[in-house]
Amino acid sequence: MTDIRSILDKLYDSHELTREEIICLLENRTSEIQSELAEHASKIAREHYGNKVFVRGLIEFTNYCRNDCYYCGIRCSNRNADRYRLTKEEITECASYGYDLGFRTIVLQGGEDAYYKDDMIVDIIKSIKNEHPDVAVTLSIGEKSYESYKAFYDAGADRYLLRHETADFAHYGKLHPANLSPENRQQCLYNLKKIGFQTGAGFMVGSPYQTNENIADDLLFLKKLDPEMIGIGPFIPHQDTQFKDMKAGGLDLTLYLLSIIRLMLPTVLLPATTALGTINPRGRELGILAGANVVMPNLSPVGVRKKYALYDNKICTGEEAAECMNCLKNRIGSIGYEIVTDRGDNIKFKRAL
Ligand code: SAH
Repeated sequence: MTDIRSILDKLYDSHELTREEIICLLENRTSEIQSELAEHASKIAREHYGNKVFVRGLIEFTNYCRNDCYYCGIRCSNRNADRYRLTKEEITECASYGYDLGFRTIVLQGGEDAYYKDDMIVDIIKSIKNEHPDVAVTLSIGEKSYESYKAFYDAGADRYLLRHETADFAHYGKLHPANLSPENRQQCLYNLKKIGFQTGAGFMVGSPYQTNENIADDLLFLKKLDPEMIGIGPFIPHQDTQFKDMKAGGLDLTLYLLSIIRLMLPTVLLPATTALGTINPRGRELGILAGANVVMPNLSPVGVRKKYALYDNKICTGEEAAECMNCLKNRIGSIGYEIVTDRGDNIKFKRAL
């Protein structure tokens, strides 16, 4: 279709798409267009980052959460969740173990758990940064006040992941209870950027009730926010949620969107997520070939891994981190890429440092 041809060429040249053009690409998705997009997207990723894939060691330090997001397995109303918290010592030991394995980014992720007061988070950040000054610390602990974010930044945290989840406010309301507001979540993202964090936003692919229009608005929101990192992965149902019988997001649509995102925001740090590896055994490799350039293996103690269940059948919950790292090195090597020991900052951001 000539229409599609001109949209693709415009995307390659200008890295811009209108809402109508995105919807057109989504409505007319074919395997030919998908392969072409993946080729262009992986090429542009290689132009900026070579064949390097950055690793982030993910420490899931608490599955207590005060929120009740309808899709999430650790939502507060899930009585079946077996709750745990890691101590400061357990977290810093995990980080040091990760350091020895070659990780230079540690991601601390958790539910919104009021047990960890700002002072504790500050203390944990400072301990990791003191012990390993060359490590980037990324936080993913939800919505906090400007002052809290500032305190974390001043303590040395480098990056913050907070998916916007969906840019459409009505859709947001179908995925979250009324006490959670998309305005506040987006404001948090602007606050994080203002403070100076390398900031990550993103959404689930194929979340319940998601339309092509919603996806178009998500991509336009991301383009406007211009974050350093973008996390997208398929929605996967969790048995203890009201969405347990909903369909998981698709592999091909996720790969298609990874390619479009890479082309719209050429230097963005874009993980091939664990959720993508969960819906397909080669999901993460295919994600890299579609334009992703980050993987985030699990560094949490094996004993708690199964408990951090946002969705069913999550992969890599049985292996030690060292085994995960080896497995990933082989997987990434098999497609001609290389896992590197590097902080892996966004090159645009690095220049500004
Ligand atoms: N509490 C933190 C971390 C959330 S977990 C925060 O609020 O940011 C990280 C991400 O996992 C979420 O942002 C969400 O997009 C994703 N997630 C949650 N449940 C999921 C599910 N059932 N399937 C796929 N991804 C899910």
